[in-house]
Amino acid sequence: MSQAASKRRICSYDMLEVRPDGYTLAETEGEMYFCNARCLCIWAVQLATRPNLADSRKLPSVQLTQPTGEQRTFADVGELAKWSVVNALDAGKQIV
Ligand SMILES: [Zn+2]
Repeated sequence: MSQAASKRRICSYDMLEVRPDGYTLAETEGEMYFCNARCLCIWAVQLATRPNLADSRKLPSVQLTQPTGEQRTFADVGELAKWSVVNALDAGKQIV
């Protein structure tokens, strides 16, 4: 058994190391990680709008874990992308 907790998590968008408060996507082929709402949004829109996207890459029933620990399931990457845009815009309004 590997030590999952010590594994470095790399953002699928910009390849930076993801902090514990990032986003995690679970799909059939494994997990993907994102630094923040912006990385998730841009990555999801890029994939969802790709011409001739293969069915196998549409991420059916993809599950997202938010920094709050809240989980959401999306029918496919198109649904994820729509949600991610709104989420990223809302996050941008917050003064942290
Ligand atoms: Zn990132």
